[in-house]
Amino acid sequence: MNNNVAFLQCVTCKKQYRADEIEYTCPDCGAVKGTLDVVYDFKLVKKQLSKEQLARSNETSHWRYLPLLPVTNPDFIQPLKVGWSPLYKHRRLNEILELPELYLKDDSGNITASYKDRASSVAIVKALEKGYKGIAAASSGNAAASISAFAASAGLPCYIFVPKAIPQAKLAQLKAYGAKVRLVDGPYDDAFELCMRESEKNGWYNRNTAINPYLAEGKKTSALEICEQLEWQAPDVVFVPVGDGCIISGIWKGFNDLHDIGFIDTFPRLVGVQAEGSSPLVKAFREGKDEVKRENVSTIADSISVGFPRDQIKALRAVHQSGGTFVSVTDDQIISALKLLAEKSGVFVEPAAAAAFAGLQKIKDSKKIKPGQKIVVILTGSGLKDIGAVR
Ligand SMILES: *Cc1c(COP(=O)(O)O)cnc(C)c1O
Ligand SMILES: [Zn+2]
Repeated sequence: MNNNVAFLQCVTCKKQYRADEIEYTCPDCGAVKGTLDVVYDFKLVKKQLSKEQLARSNETSHWRYLPLLPVTNPDFIQPLKVGWSPLYKHRRLNEILELPELYLKDDSGNITASYKDRASSVAIVKALEKGYKGIAAASSGNAAASISAFAASAGLPCYIFVPKAIPQAKLAQLKAYGAKVRLVDGPYDDAFELCMRESEKNGWYNRNTAINPYLAEGKKTSALEICEQLEWQAPDVVFVPVGDGCIISGIWKGFNDLHDIGFIDTFPRLVGVQAEGSSPLVKAFREGKDEVKRENVSTIADSISVGFPRDQIKALRAVHQSGGTFVSVTDDQIISALKLLAEKSGVFVEPAAAAAFAGLQKIKDSKKIKPGQKIVVILTGSGLKDIGAVR
């Protein structure tokens, strides 16, 4: 069996690797600068994927785009709900905001109630294809809950490293799925390092964000869905909450892949939204740097509480290339955005997702978007994930 991946390419030195000769990052450039892009043979993809065939497809998950995903053996795909999430055009909310072409991409309906399922569904396939006997991840909570579900489904032992401060609902998910959980007495960034060492030592497949090149492939699929849902028109602006920066990089990759196979001819501007108490990418972007300074972080939005974003190179590149920007929002703005969204549209999201919506409100107030523009806000996780924030 085969897939359409042509090679993996280092984001910094541009060296190309065969998919079977490298697992995580470019050895010459290291774990942060040496992240890899998955590059497809677009001629092959085009033979297997057409708009007409998609219009007839009754696959109601992101696997409808299989030829554009790095899967060699589809038998390893787990039958869990992931992707093909709704794109709401909510008339009442849009009237209140005076943004008639605003769309909400609601990813709270995935199997573990967050966007992370898009990545985990791909990671589990790669772990099984490569013959690993265990899979590990460090996470602020959602990635852990997500990979625990897919590992449980596949019957693969799962090893999780999370900060002690993880919200209770996310911890409950880990316990329910039977993951082996290590509570780390420190921030997410410490959990990440520990997971790197332990995976290497024990021979587990590592689902850590950014160093695993296949996660962004799963995370790109909302871009494919948005374009299909908008009848193969790219939106004008997309708001994305940013912690490590893998979602925003993945989404940019999705628009680029679609462009490369001729499905769209324009690109959106991407706006990366961070919490003010955890905004190293906002600062790096403002200062025109292509890497970030590690900072101590504190925000109510635990899913984007990241002091040293692991996908910083790709995230900064995505925002630069798209002609977009990074903004920060305060915890107060996040909470009022969460409330407004729930009260006016019926969509209840966790604080990290609300941050993206708060970012839209902030940019709108600065008059940088025009009312007729097609705007998408990526809502990355369910409100039931962290009820402490609302309480
Ligand atoms: C992980 C996560 C994010 C941020 O994604 P990154 O890839 O870390 O930038 C945003 N919202 C939610 C709900 C998440 O779980
Ligand atoms: Zn390199």
